[in-house]
Amino acid sequence: MPELPEVETVKRAIAPMITGKRITDIFVGSKGLRWPFPKSLESALEGKRCGAPTRRGKYILIPVFNRQILLIHLGMSGSIRIYANRPNLQKHDHFALGFEGGEWLVLCDPRRFGFVDLFSESEIESHWLLKNLGPEPLCEDFTVEYLMAQTAGKTCTIKSLLLDQTKVAGIGNIYAAEALFMAGISPKRQAKTIQRARAERLVPAIQLILRKAIKAGGTSVRDHIQPGGEIGYFVQSLQIYGRSGEHCVKCGSIVKEIKQTGRTTFHCSLCQR
Ligand SMILES: [Zn+2]
Repeated sequence: MPELPEVETVKRAIAPMITGKRITDIFVGSKGLRWPFPKSLESALEGKRCGAPTRRGKYILIPVFNRQILLIHLGMSGSIRIYANRPNLQKHDHFALGFEGGEWLVLCDPRRFGFVDLFSESEIESHWLLKNLGPEPLCEDFTVEYLMAQTAGKTCTIKSLLLDQTKVAGIGNIYAAEALFMAGISPKRQAKTIQRARAERLVPAIQLILRKAIKAGGTSVRDHIQPGGEIGYFVQSLQIYGRSGEHCVKCGSIVKEIKQTGRTTFHCSLCQR
């Protein structure tokens, strides 16, 4: 599933193409994605000018004149591609926008777990998908003190807490594994046992991993590719994710793979306590 760095990569790639540009063509697939497309989508977008896209957690938010927000979520397998000219849409291309100047933005989503929504700018704080999101991990609100307040008294594991979008927005399975490895913290550790020393390692580890991944254009595992068609090069920098059975890069012992609430977790039981 695309996580914060992959979505940020998409946002940065589409920004120069769509900012200030008018939407001249729209394709809305008949199947819908996780939910049906909003009914008014075509009429609401036709001929409208887009503002600069932003990102919140794993959501891309595109302001559309007049005071509306087009929200795109990539789901499990979604990707956005950009084209210089009208492309021949393929089977899994479910939503596409053509812009003045001829460029196209296409949302491809084979598993159709993604979605598109359109709502008034005034609802941005109260929108049901956005209102409960925790702070952005790369913003100043995400501090050691904040993390300690969130972990206090929690019996869930630290890994599941990091995946909880209401605690911190945008982290998924890959970056939780990488950050916990960098910080030397076991993913099986109960959240409430994260005291200051571990929190002081974990917060900067999360931020460093995410910044590096954004710089590399995200991680290409399974379906994620950058909108221009390049892979995300952070896949080459993964230290623990996907490495079960290999030697730990820090200590040489064998990396283990376990299941935690249905998700695969990779860890080194020697380096992560
Ligand atoms: Zn190790």
